[in-house]
Amino acid sequence: MVQDIFELINKEKNRQNNTIELIASENFVSKNILKAQGSVLTNKYAEGVPYKRYYGGCEIIDEIETRAIEDAKKLFEVKYANVQPHSGSAANMAVYRALLKPKDKVLSMKLEAGGHLSHGSSMSFSGMDYEFHSYNVDKETNMLNYNDIRRLALKVKPKLIIAGASSYPRKIDFEEFRKIADEVGAYLMVDMAHIAGLVAAGLHQNPCKYADVVTSTTHKTLRGPRGGIILTNDSILIGKINKAVFPGIQGGPLEHVIAAKAVCFEEAMNLDFIKYQKQIIKNAKVLCDVLKMEGFKIVTNGTDNHLLLVDTKKSIGMTGKEAENVLEKIGITCNKNMIPYDPTTPYITSGIRLGTPAMTTRGFSEKDFVEVGKIISLSLKNSENKQIQEELKIRVSNLLKKYPLYEEGDLHE
Ligand SMILES: *Cc1c(COP(=O)(O)O)cnc(C)c1O
Repeated sequence: MVQDIFELINKEKNRQNNTIELIASENFVSKNILKAQGSVLTNKYAEGVPYKRYYGGCEIIDEIETRAIEDAKKLFEVKYANVQPHSGSAANMAVYRALLKPKDKVLSMKLEAGGHLSHGSSMSFSGMDYEFHSYNVDKETNMLNYNDIRRLALKVKPKLIIAGASSYPRKIDFEEFRKIADEVGAYLMVDMAHIAGLVAAGLHQNPCKYADVVTSTTHKTLRGPRGGIILTNDSILIGKINKAVFPGIQGGPLEHVIAAKAVCFEEAMNLDFIKYQKQIIKNAKVLCDVLKMEGFKIVTNGTDNHLLLVDTKKSIGMTGKEAENVLEKIGITCNKNMIPYDPTTPYITSGIRLGTPAMTTRGFSEKDFVEVGKIISLSLKNSENKQIQEELKIRVSNLLKKYPLYEEGDLHE
């Protein structure tokens, strides 16, 4: 029965309401974004780009998609945008198809160092279709070492260099990457999926100034609907990119999602959004400091952005898998994560990744994150003590009560 599906949606809403969400790639969208994404636009086919479609009846869709494109350009200070990719991985696939031929060489960040599956994993189309080589982070500092990357680029001579990561807690210097790409005659693509919100708020170097192409998701720090975008300043590349998206890898664009992307970009142009992004960083620093005070080892010993990596193995002899499970039982959601030079496997891991975007959206400030840090520390250090875990569950729900998320009925307006 259809009703069962709505009951499940309601259950998921309650789960979101009743847990502390620390997955660094998740966020909570506004009601306007939910509304746009749940709209009648889902009914419309609109293959092609605005005003050059393969279907009739697109005159309003054209206005909507043009609005999303113009907003994206304004927000990221860039000349061209494609807002159709269904996801971050699809955006990357389209760029590879626009710039590369099968088997061409690409240099990207190693998965264990913080890279993404779509940057050359053998399990992903990327690693199957192209010859990927990877740079690691420095063994001592666990940070990017641009001299090492330069040396590797000179050796590999890639056609494309990719900068950008899924679990790197520090700033990335896109200007340095540009210099390296120029030195070896490679294209530079920046995948800013995780940090797009920080970039939009001017709190991280804007890669559009340096890269040939920038890809992103819209659903992480940017706090929009689930989807992807591609940005460039190059008038020739945008043509290739548009063709690679459609008909290259996609059919009809998700115009309901594109409308929600436009809402997201307009929200991101508000001053409130800058305040929100600043608070994300403040909260991450506080969480990091509390865990350090509690004796936890943090990868790179700190954070510049919205996330941190806790080396649970070195700190308390616990794998990431175990730590994720312990925290889940008291109502804290996070994910196990490989740490640089991790000797275990992606299913076990030696650490956890913690991010502050979602709970900052809910209203958590520094003092709430001090409490979150203390709860995490107590929980992981006393994982066998049932009574302590029960007490911590109550502390979690007390924190959440102060900041309700979606009200009853929100999703079915
Ligand atoms: C999340 C992420 C992606 C993929 O996004 P999906 O929408 O899940 O396909 C791509 N690149 C990076 C760096 C990411 O963090």
